[in-house]
Amino acid sequence: MAVFAGVFTKFKNIKKPFLIIYPLIIIISIPLLLILNTFWNLRTFNRDVNFLIRHQAVSTADTLTPSISKNIGNPEELTALLLNTLKANSEIVNITVFSDRNDELNVVSSTENSENYEDLKKSGLNYLAIGFNQPFAGLNYDPNLRKNIWNVSIPLEGMEGEGKYLLFIKIKTDTVEEILGRTSRDSYVVLAVLTLVTLVLLINHFIFYKKAERASQLEEIDRLKDEFISMAAHELRAPVTALVGYLEMLASEISPEEKEKIKEDLEILNSLISDLNNLIEELLDVSRIEQGRLKIEVNEINVNEIIENVIKLMIPTATQKGLSLNFNPSELPKINSDPNRVRQLVTNLVSNSVKYTLKGQVDVSALLKDKLIEVSVKDTGIGIPGEEVVNLFTKFHRVKDKQTTEVRGTGLGLWITKQIVELLGGKITVESIYGTGTKFSFTLPVS
Ligand code: ADP
Repeated sequence: MAVFAGVFTKFKNIKKPFLIIYPLIIIISIPLLLILNTFWNLRTFNRDVNFLIRHQAVSTADTLTPSISKNIGNPEELTALLLNTLKANSEIVNITVFSDRNDELNVVSSTENSENYEDLKKSGLNYLAIGFNQPFAGLNYDPNLRKNIWNVSIPLEGMEGEGKYLLFIKIKTDTVEEILGRTSRDSYVVLAVLTLVTLVLLINHFIFYKKAERASQLEEIDRLKDEFISMAAHELRAPVTALVGYLEMLASEISPEEKEKIKEDLEILNSLISDLNNLIEELLDVSRIEQGRLKIEVNEINVNEIIENVIKLMIPTATQKGLSLNFNPSELPKINSDPNRVRQLVTNLVSNSVKYTLKGQVDVSALLKDKLIEVSVKDTGIGIPGEEVVNLFTKFHRVKDKQTTEVRGTGLGLWITKQIVELLGGKITVESIYGTGTKFSFTLPVS
C-alpha cells in the first residue's frame, strides 16, 4: 500500500504539461521507430538480394568461361552455347561476349539482335570492368521490358587469343521485385493497423486526461466543501450557545405568571435551538470523520446501562407521539469501547425509529452473540422501500416519499452511525418491510 501511495504522490507532483508530453512521446515514437525499422529492413533486403543476383551473374560467367574459351574462334558454336544458357536460365534476358582490341569493343557473339549491338557496347560498365579488371553491375530501367534490369559486366580470364574478353549479362529482377512487393505490402498493412491503433490510443489518452483533470477539479471542490462545512459549523456554534444563554436569562427575569403565558413559545424556541444544535453537531462529526479527527476514547462500559439512559431521555418524545418505547436487557459482559460514541449510536437509531413510526412501538434489545454484542432497534414504522436500502448509508441521502417529507432531517445520521460503528470495530445492518417496520442492528466486539 505504501508503495502505491508513493507512486500516486509522485504522479500527482508531475507538472501538467509533462502529463501530456510523456505519453504523447511514447505513443508517437513507438510507431515511428517501427516505420523506420520497416524501411531499414526493406532497404537491407533489397541490397542483399541484389548482391545475390550479381553473385549469380559472376557464377554463370565462371561456368561459361571454359566453354567460351574453347569456342571463341567459332562464332556459331559460341552463339549456340549462349542461346542454350539463356534457355536454361529464365532470369537471364541477354548474354553477350565482347572482345577488346586496341581499346575498341566488338561483339563476338550475342543472344541479342545485331541492331542492338551499339546499345550493348555503350554500357559504361563494360569499360569499367575492362579498366579495373573486375566485375561491375548496375541496375537500369529497360523501357522495352518496362522493368528494372541488372546489367553485369565480367572480364573473362584465361582466354586464348589476343586482347581481352568480356561477358555482358542482363538479368531480370522479377523474383526480387515480387518478394519485395509482397514484403512491402505486408509492412504497409502492419503500418496502417499500427497508425489506427496509435490514433485510438491518442484519442483515449485525451479522453483519459480530460477525465483525470475533471476528477482532480471535483476532488478540490469536495475538499473546499468539507472545509466550508467545518468552518460554518464552528462559526454557528458560538451564536447558538449565546442564544441559549440569553433565552435562559430572559426566562429567569420574568415573573412565573408571564412565563406561563409564553410557555408554549418558549418550548418551540427550545426545540428549534435543539434542532440547530443537533445539525451543528452532525456537521462537525462529518468533518471530523472525513478528516480522520474523530476521537475514540475507550473505557470499560456497560452497554445495558447506556441503552437504559438513552431510553429514559427518549421516552417523553415517544409518549408524546403515542408510541411505546421498550428495552429488554439481557446479561452482557462489560466491554472496552467509547461510551459517548455508543450512546450516540443508540440515540441516532432510537430517535430515527421514533421519528419514522406513526403508531405502535419501538423495541430495543442487546444480546451476546459469539464474541459480539448485537444492539437492535426494531420499530413498527413506515418502513423503507427496497430500492432505497442500498443508498441508506450514503451522506445526505433521504428517502423521498409522502410520509418522510413531513419529517425534518439532514440525511447525515445513518452515514455518521455507520462510520462510528466501523471505527469501533463493528458492523451495521438493516432489515425493513415498506409499510410494516424496520430493524437496525449494530455489533460491538467484546474483546
Ligand atoms: P435523517 O433522519 O436526518 O433524514 P438519516 O441518515 O438518519 O437522516 O436517515 C436517512 C433516511 O433513512 C431518512 O431520511 C429516512 O427516510 C430513512 N430512515 C432512517 N431510519 C428509519 C426508520 N427507522 N424507519 C424508516 N425510515 C428510516
